[in-house]
Amino acid sequence: MSLRDDSKPDTILTHAGRDPHNNHGVVNPPVYHASTILFPTVQAMEDAQKRRFFSMTYGRHGTPTTFAFEDAVAKLEGGWKAIAVPSGLAAIVGAITGFVSAGDHILVTDNAYGPTRKYCDDALARFGVATTYYDPSIGAGISALIRPNTKLVFTEAPGSLTFEMQDIPAIAKAAHARGAKVVMDNTWATPLFCKPFDLGVDVVAHAATKYIVGHSDAMLGIIDCTEETYLTVRNAVALLGYSAAPDDLYLGLRGLRTMGVRLRQHQQTALALATWLKKRPEVERVLYPALPDDPGHALWKRDMSGASGLFGFVLKPYSHKAVANMLDGMELYGMGASWGGFESLILPAHMTRTAKPWDAKGPTLRIHAGLEDPDDLTKDLERGLERLRSTNE
Ligand SMILES: *Cc1c(COP(=O)(O)O)cnc(C)c1O
Repeated sequence: MSLRDDSKPDTILTHAGRDPHNNHGVVNPPVYHASTILFPTVQAMEDAQKRRFFSMTYGRHGTPTTFAFEDAVAKLEGGWKAIAVPSGLAAIVGAITGFVSAGDHILVTDNAYGPTRKYCDDALARFGVATTYYDPSIGAGISALIRPNTKLVFTEAPGSLTFEMQDIPAIAKAAHARGAKVVMDNTWATPLFCKPFDLGVDVVAHAATKYIVGHSDAMLGIIDCTEETYLTVRNAVALLGYSAAPDDLYLGLRGLRTMGVRLRQHQQTALALATWLKKRPEVERVLYPALPDDPGHALWKRDMSGASGLFGFVLKPYSHKAVANMLDGMELYGMGASWGGFESLILPAHMTRTAKPWDAKGPTLRIHAGLEDPDDLTKDLERGLERLRSTNE
């Protein structure tokens, strides 16, 4: 069995990372639990050490289970080589750390995932790396913020909680003109719906915890690199001591096999819910770039081949009590952190913004559209909006 270079994404999802005929015919790559790797001779050990990250030396640096997952994601996304890490946040930390030293400066989009900001503000700042947050819609205007010591521009599109798109190619062009690397958090679109390397990105970080695992039952991250950036990131990950767990890697690989069909259903349901919410009198606006009148729609259409099931909406100015009344009574939508599993979620969104304040007058909510029947999900939302309205009356 083999995978041709011109295989389409769904074929890659189904076949990448598998090697049945070298695994007794077993369809899925086996789960290797390992710390110590034994060598028969000094020569064999020294050869492996010379090849370092490209061979088995120690469990922390990866096993065939790790390499299978890494190969599958890199193949799908178009990276040179990917690096598995134990969480999405570890992917972000690993993607940034190797490129910065004390005295350097980085630019981070204002709508980045909250813990990304926290890493910059609480950790990088202590190590002497300064962060400036920028308006997600800045595009080529990012040039004006790039300083001689700016080493990296961090992007995320659409951004967490507010779902603004970014002009990644324009940002990448400006960053590269001044010698800065571009990192993108591509968790929302997944390696299936967005190919960041085609947009000029140097390093891609994913919370595989979300759609790649897809079942809300494992923590996992993956960093995808170009040939030029791989060793910098790989060394940083080794220094940080990250090691993704074998059973979680297996779940990540298994999740990939169905990610295409799941995502298309998530997208279809999210679009139905978002379109329905837009017409509701309780709703001020819906935040979802797949909607034709969303401000980010043109960029989304240009740079992505699909939308995931995560979107936001801004309510008219209702009280905290009214929102609690709405959410407490939801029957199908769970309330809790994370997303990307088979199940629907709803959450009040609390964002930190410093470059471009979020000026919505009413509360913002975030929905993850799961794989339940869209009609049942709509009815649950409808009853929720009735509770919201009746609390205020
Ligand atoms: C969840 C998430 C992360 C972090 O992933 P974890 O696996 O929870 O550490 C990073 N970026 C985005 C956009 C996310 O939604």
